[in-house]
Amino acid sequence: MEGSTEQETASRTPIPLEEPRPPRSTNGGGPRKWLYAYTEGDGKDKRLLGGKGANLCEMTQIGIEVPPGFSITTEACLAYLAHADRALPEGLLEQTRDAMRALEERTGKGFGDRTEPLLVSVRSGAAMSMPGMMDTILNLGLNRDTLAGLIEHTSDPRFGWDAYRRFIQLFGKVALGISDERFDDQFERVKRSAGAAVDLELEADDLEEIAGRFLSIVREVTGRPFPDDPYVQLELAIKAVFDSWMGRRAVDYRREFGITPGMANGTAVNVQTMVFGNLGDDCATGVAFTRDPATGENVLFGEYLVNAQGEDVVAGTRTPKPVGEMESGMPDLYAELEALRRKLESHYGEVQDFEFTIEKGRLYCLQTRNGKMNASAMVRTSVEMHQQGLITRERALTRVNPEHLEQLLYPQLRSDVDVEPIGRGLPASPGAACGEAVFDADRAVELGRAGHDVILVREETKPEDIHGFFASRGILTSRGGKTSHAAVVARGMGKPCVAGAEGIRVDVRARQAVAGDTVIEEGDVITIDGTSGSIFRGSVPMVEPDFSAELRRLLEWADEEARLKVRANADTPDDARRAIEYGAMGIGLCRTERMFNASDRLPIVLDMIMAETTEEREEALSRLLPIQREDFRQVFHVMSPRPVTIRLLDPPIHEFLPEEIQLEDEIRHLGRLRETVRGMEVMAETVELLAGDAGPAPAGALTDTRGVDAVIARKEAILRRARTLKEVNPMLGHRGVRLGMTYPEIYKMQVRAILEATALCIRDGVEVHAQIMVPQVCTAEELDAVHADCREVQDEVEAAFGVSLDIEFGTMIEVVRACLRAERLADAADFFSFGTNDLTQATFSFSREDAENKFLPLYNERGILRDNPFEVLDQLGLGRLMALAVEWGRKAKPGLQVGICGEHGGHPQSIDFCHGIGLDYVSCSAPRIPVARLAAAQAEIRSRT
Ligand code: ADP
Ligand code: MG
Ligand code: MG
Repeated sequence: MEGSTEQETASRTPIPLEEPRPPRSTNGGGPRKWLYAYTEGDGKDKRLLGGKGANLCEMTQIGIEVPPGFSITTEACLAYLAHADRALPEGLLEQTRDAMRALEERTGKGFGDRTEPLLVSVRSGAAMSMPGMMDTILNLGLNRDTLAGLIEHTSDPRFGWDAYRRFIQLFGKVALGISDERFDDQFERVKRSAGAAVDLELEADDLEEIAGRFLSIVREVTGRPFPDDPYVQLELAIKAVFDSWMGRRAVDYRREFGITPGMANGTAVNVQTMVFGNLGDDCATGVAFTRDPATGENVLFGEYLVNAQGEDVVAGTRTPKPVGEMESGMPDLYAELEALRRKLESHYGEVQDFEFTIEKGRLYCLQTRNGKMNASAMVRTSVEMHQQGLITRERALTRVNPEHLEQLLYPQLRSDVDVEPIGRGLPASPGAACGEAVFDADRAVELGRAGHDVILVREETKPEDIHGFFASRGILTSRGGKTSHAAVVARGMGKPCVAGAEGIRVDVRARQAVAGDTVIEEGDVITIDGTSGSIFRGSVPMVEPDFSAELRRLLEWADEEARLKVRANADTPDDARRAIEYGAMGIGLCRTERMFNASDRLPIVLDMIMAETTEEREEALSRLLPIQREDFRQVFHVMSPRPVTIRLLDPPIHEFLPEEIQLEDEIRHLGRLRETVRGMEVMAETVELLAGDAGPAPAGALTDTRGVDAVIARKEAILRRARTLKEVNPMLGHRGVRLGMTYPEIYKMQVRAILEATALCIRDGVEVHAQIMVPQVCTAEELDAVHADCREVQDEVEAAFGVSLDIEFGTMIEVVRACLRAERLADAADFFSFGTNDLTQATFSFSREDAENKFLPLYNERGILRDNPFEVLDQLGLGRLMALAVEWGRKAKPGLQVGICGEHGGHPQSIDFCHGIGLDYVSCSAPRIPVARLAAAQAEIRSRT
């Protein structure tokens, strides 16, 4: 059992099975059916007919004009590839001949017939689109005879020779493996000697000359003449398409994009009657989207060329025109194209990307597939297609990838600008930002206040830089990973961050950063892209985030569908306001220590830590109380009437002290200063002594060492304290509820601040739904103890304010033991909230920083773990613990409210899992909220089907 579980974890992307498997044996008599005419094939069966083939069948059967043809199945491909000598499976050639005869009948033309030659294209197409992977052969069926017929029939020798030379080259390349260069070289030579600047200037004679040279190339390379028999051509072409499935390009492509045999196995071959867009000015060819893929606007969007073949549009030899221009040039056909667009959309219920060709005033559709669009176009089309009745609301919600919504919520670099970055780092917090480089937090605040946009550039950041974060548009560090302080804090604030840009040397003292030959001085403008990790000199154009009306609408629909509520991890009133803008339905995690870090509080916090006695500590706490109370009051005001979960102090308190090294440094520095001051003192005394009363005035305070002595003494005391508080393993040390147990006055102060803030709000008529959450709990006794203190404070506050308070009391679940004791914990708690960041560390016994920096990448690469468990919730291990804790907790207390507030709470796949085990809410950073809202709706919709 355990073993099989591990197995599952290890194999997300099984290496695509490149040994093709033959189809199951034929069922009884006769060879199986290897091909389907477009009039009969199942348009839903992309695995069998390929995406292109299935859609050609589908379109034919709903009455769209498609050039007649048939699809040879992917099964035939697999059978061919599995054969020792790569031979076509039994019966395929006969069936192909029959199908060709049927085509002849339908079109009134003959394959190889001199007077009315039937020409076909041979196109590959697998279940998944693999763009440009395999080439299409056009005009198959041409030889000297049929060419003569074609020319006679069209009275257009130039057209005929052009078709012929295209065919020889494509066939030569795809079916005979002759490189394009051989052909292109001769083509250019003839073009030059004909004095033609562009292909269009070539005359029929020139093209005839080219075709002749091409035929010689084929004879030379293959040692045989070009095959003239159309059926020989067709057989070779089919085999070539099949072979291409195992060609280097295709195999690499599948590996690169993780396309497994389960997704696409073998390619189908489409044999289709040729239609010509290059037979005159009543002919054209083009590609179009049923809606604008850049904006999602409901307009026909695309390009076309009059008198051209399909490949000309892509080849860029002529500049195509916007399809809208057809309206004046070919009004009737434009109307037909509009009708085609509507028909495609109403049938597929999806934006289509299609190819068309107009032959002598007749419109044919050659291909259609779902259109690829950017995130904002996906959102807009979802909303509008539902409003037009083309798709259900569920479909509107499920067709948008939640992860893509994040693109819409941050400023992005414009995709059409092409600037070389001066350096790269880790994409640590998404979005782009531009501003003047500054090298310390104080300077950031100074310039920020003066209205400058600044980017804080540091080697790495520390908690005491926090004010610099607030003042900056973005953060750039040269050290540290995606979980470094800079990355975590920036993500929490929704500010772009590039971390660990190791190629950039940051010299804080010189106030400059050096990247290769580029030197950035303070005040120089730089742009960082936290989405890609790139760093640029100067300002790079951006697109501002767009929380469009359509996105709002889509998310409203999502909220109506979803069962899971979505809350925010938000620590300050500003965070809370932003969270509401993104649609937060409450705060799932409000960390009180973030409030401690502001520069006006840190000295008081320091006093609290330095206190030798409980009284001293209470004195410091009494100064913190009004500050915290005001913070909470504001947060409650902003969030009212939504729930707010406040976590009591969690991190080890030494985190609020400066680092030992820094203290030692400062003390040394001050020591030297004291020497200097002493020297000046002696000097002043000497001068005084020598000059008597007439001498210069004594330097006074400046030469008094007492001030310096006091500062040194304080620093030394802090250093001593820092050394006592130092822990071998702080993350498993004196933190969370353990602090609350040893210094109950700290928790009591925080609880009092929360309760008094609540009472004040009630007085103001503001509805408050406060939840007090205790971190790091491993046993119910801890919870009971804190709860008892809580009740004591509550009684006092209720008496003092003359109100009765309705406060919920609960615990974070982030210790393995807490999961296992969930039943008993539930007795003592109104709610649980999984802190999956710590719980993941505890479940794996991985410390996150060490894991991510040292061995996780290797684990992922070797498939030992398939994901980074700190980003993707580990459903098999951690998830099991969570499910048990929910089950046991609710056994003791049915209706126990359970949420998640780790980073996973904003990750769609993890949200789906949380939905499945019956959580009530997920909580995530503000910018992930829209992602989570959509993911929550999708989880519900998925669970219904
Ligand atoms: P891809 O999968 O690379 O798009 P296609 O099979 O769609 O390749 O074919 C490439 C080009 O050949 C297209 O531009 C298409 O217009 C043209 N083409 C394919 N079949 C025909 C046909 N039966 N008649 C006219 N043009 C065709
Ligand atoms: Mg195509
Ligand atoms: Mg924690």
